[in-house]
Amino acid sequence: MANYNAPLNDMHFVLFDVLKAHSLSECPGYEDATEDMVRAVLDEAAKMAENVLQPINQQGDIEGCQYDPETKLVTTPTGFKEAYKQFAQGGWSGLSASPEYGGQGLPHLLKIVVDEMACSTNLSMGMYPGLSHGAIDALTLHASDFLKDTYLPKLISGEWTGTMCLTEPQCGTDLGLIRTKADPQADGSYHITGTKIWITGGEHDMVDNIAHLVLAKLPGAPDSSKGISLFLVPKFLEDGTRNPAFCGGLEHKMGIKASATCVMNFENAKGWLIGEENQGLKCMFTMMNSARIMVGIQGLGLAEKAYQISLGFAKERLQSRSLTGPKNPEDKADPILVHPDVRRMISQQKVFLEGARCMAYWTGMHLDLSEKHPDEKVREEADDIVQIMTPIIKSYLTDDGYFSTDQALQSMGGSGFTQDWEVEQLLRDGRIARIYEGTNGIQALDLVGRKLMLKGGRLPRTYFAKMNQMIAELHNEDHVKHCKALLSTLQESLMWLAAHASKNPEEAGAAATPMLKLFALTSMAVMWATMANVAGSKKGDGAYTEAFYDGKLKAADHFFRVAHAQAAFFKADVEGGKSTLMAFAEDEF
Ligand SMILES: Cc1cc2nc3c(=O)[nH]c(=O)nc-3n(C[C@H](O)[C@H](O)[C@H](O)COP(=O)(O)OP(=O)(O)OC[C@H]3O[C@@H](n4cnc5c(N)ncnc54)[C@H](O)[C@@H]3O)c2cc1C
Repeated sequence: MANYNAPLNDMHFVLFDVLKAHSLSECPGYEDATEDMVRAVLDEAAKMAENVLQPINQQGDIEGCQYDPETKLVTTPTGFKEAYKQFAQGGWSGLSASPEYGGQGLPHLLKIVVDEMACSTNLSMGMYPGLSHGAIDALTLHASDFLKDTYLPKLISGEWTGTMCLTEPQCGTDLGLIRTKADPQADGSYHITGTKIWITGGEHDMVDNIAHLVLAKLPGAPDSSKGISLFLVPKFLEDGTRNPAFCGGLEHKMGIKASATCVMNFENAKGWLIGEENQGLKCMFTMMNSARIMVGIQGLGLAEKAYQISLGFAKERLQSRSLTGPKNPEDKADPILVHPDVRRMISQQKVFLEGARCMAYWTGMHLDLSEKHPDEKVREEADDIVQIMTPIIKSYLTDDGYFSTDQALQSMGGSGFTQDWEVEQLLRDGRIARIYEGTNGIQALDLVGRKLMLKGGRLPRTYFAKMNQMIAELHNEDHVKHCKALLSTLQESLMWLAAHASKNPEEAGAAATPMLKLFALTSMAVMWATMANVAGSKKGDGAYTEAFYDGKLKAADHFFRVAHAQAAFFKADVEGGKSTLMAFAEDEF
């Protein structure tokens, strides 16, 4: 059984050598985030992931969570309660939360790197504090002082967890269809009544109290997404009374079996309004960026672990001889890593993982700059990058992370399909990340239908400016040409979109997914060229091994080998528009 080792070298390389992330310590509020401090936190995070989260991952999958219909309580698998306690006591729940309420106030970027390790080693466990983090963000930004004082310290310390209760049987993507009701009470509270489904961490035994953030409609509210308000509904009220917010059952699902996915019945449960009436969706949107980036990181984290397992396997599994003669003459066969087709699967994983990590951390760094940089212009530009990159990170990292994990499984033959190796679990666990927090199709629509249009089309202009700025720093002329050509392809597709979407919105709907993929591919190109640039300049400095630097340079070459063909494919798909898609009559399917 292969174990996960946090890829600290790769993480350090992106953080300190490529992004110069230690410069964040110059931003007011982030003074503590020096390189030494970040390295020390990552060392500790690696120990927590490797020694606390990893050992219970497979058992969690086998046991799953258990529901007791008598008590309506949920039990998590063996070891989860203890591991969660260690996680919370280590201060990991409040890493980037406000120090005013007990958080450590460290950069989002650092949290993203720690999240990657947690997702690699135990996605199910990572979901509980992950959802709390969403609740912490929403409360910090929108709640009254009373709610903040009462709930934030316990959520940030990890003593309590939080949930996000949006989905109902008749509404997932289209939240305008919500039926849960909120009735105002004389004391300023509300009685919440309705059923929510698929609520992560809705009920479990790891903490004493759970703070549910619930979307519901007030009497007379508009019958659309404009009539939704956000409420905080605790499992236990401040005086210890049990609030009637009960789990009605657990979902039986393909993966993340140790994450309790609950039906939640609110039966006149007491709740408090967060933010203003009918502004519930707006409140949710303000915390959407970090939540969606976090889901993207799930795809990356799982793929990283699968890569480590499949690479270890490919170096040890002996089958057939190399096409160019024995490489392991003392045995009857060579390790499968000698075969070009296995190489294809292993190198595709490497190229995806390291490029996607750079892209995600780059976006995470802009999230911090958008909040903390002293110069308003820098903050605004950074916010543009976060806005445009968020749906790309969520969608690309989970889609291609899933394909990457699948490559790991395939490269291991039948072993990959068995439970002797964890890859089959990683594949099952990772599938949901393409669906929740807005399906990847909806992310593409968010990019094309909203983000490209925001602020008079400023976001893509900022994106192109940033990409060109990074290209201007490259030394390798071939890489410059590659990146410029890919940016041109993207530009041409955007022009096609601009010319056609206004005539018929279905053209934009049809073009959305390949357009997002084209953005992702172009961003990956600039990330790879930049990493190769840094590796080329630093090679021989002893900070990393020669193999490390050579690996980066060769991976960049491998990326560019098919990048233009892929871009041409996506461009053709964008420009195909709705034509052949909408041509079918319903009975022709
Ligand atoms: C394990 C798990 C955990 C979850 N955790 C939570 C949670 O904690 N809290 C919570 O509130 N919810 C949670 N969910 C729900 C999740 O967020 C939804 O499943 C998701 O938003 C999609 O909604 P849906 O499943 O109803 O799909 P639907 O909305 O029915 O969509 C079905 C398909 O149609 C597509 N589609 C829908 N509308 C459009 C459109 N306008 N244009 C193009 N395509 C469209 C979708 O992309 C999708 O492919 C969870 C779900 C699961 C399975």
